[in-house]
Amino acid sequence: MSLAPAKRLAKSAALALATAPVLYPWLRRRALGGDKITILCYHTLGPDGDDMDAWTVLHQGEFRRQIALFRRDYDIVSLDQALDGPRSSRPQLVLTFDDGDIGLYTHLLPILREEGLPVTVYVATGQIADQRPYWFDRVMNALQGSGERQIDLSGAGLGRWTVGPDHGPGRCAAIGALLEALKTVDPDRREAMADRVIAMAAPVTPPRTPVGPMSLVQLQEFAAHPGVTIAAHSHCHNLLDQIPLAEAADSIALSRKLLQDWTGQEVRHFAYPNSNHNAVLRAEMARQGFASATVLDNALTPRDQDRFALSRLNVGRFGQINRLRLRMAGK
Ligand SMILES: [Zn+2]
Repeated sequence: MSLAPAKRLAKSAALALATAPVLYPWLRRRALGGDKITILCYHTLGPDGDDMDAWTVLHQGEFRRQIALFRRDYDIVSLDQALDGPRSSRPQLVLTFDDGDIGLYTHLLPILREEGLPVTVYVATGQIADQRPYWFDRVMNALQGSGERQIDLSGAGLGRWTVGPDHGPGRCAAIGALLEALKTVDPDRREAMADRVIAMAAPVTPPRTPVGPMSLVQLQEFAAHPGVTIAAHSHCHNLLDQIPLAEAADSIALSRKLLQDWTGQEVRHFAYPNSNHNAVLRAEMARQGFASATVLDNALTPRDQDRFALSRLNVGRFGQINRLRLRMAGK
């Protein structure tokens, strides 16, 4: 046996041991230290069996299975209850969703109605107002067609990329890596660079369930569900530490104002797009009177953590549930 499969085997054996019924509760209790909140960050749900290769799209059946598993050990509570409400006898878990994708309306809302789950949804308002997906969703949609795609960005110093040919974790990881490369491009040039990628991906076969924004009417119906807390995620969904502070501040304030106007709900919470934040942005959150802001650092959340940098664990497609459970146990 070569080293790689042996390593993989040892890793999965360690994973199975750590998540076994005897050891796991002890690990989790120790990690939570009696005083930590677990905040999960999802993006959206898709139909079971859909072959959309996007980390952000979790099959709805997988989400249901996760919820059933979490409910054995956690009280699933709203963000407000976790931050300021009464403690539960069991550890508290908060479910959050970023961006405001249409899958929340199509696939999450029916589950909320059945299960009575509280969720916080951080909505980036630009895509709702314009009804145009952000650049990262347009790139993901463009790269879903069958067959291999060669994306040559060497002229821009970003290398050559091969996506596909088969659906699955490999294609999902390749698209994810390409998106990360695009995030390093100057914000003013990123849209144009994304359009170049989309042109190179031609001919584009639209995916069966493309990622993209809810309509305003869908958002309003979604927000009216009593379990839903609507929160802000900026208007532009730019990486806020890469643009001038005044521009970032306007984008933050505009998303909050639009969401309040659209839904009639008070908007008190924020998530930094792509988790990009710094001390100046955290101070801006306080200045604008937000109650909290979350990041995405794959960590548990101590109750005395900076309210404008609350930790979250990332959950997505092709992530293994045992790996997620291990991260929920601080590993
Ligand atoms: Zn986002």
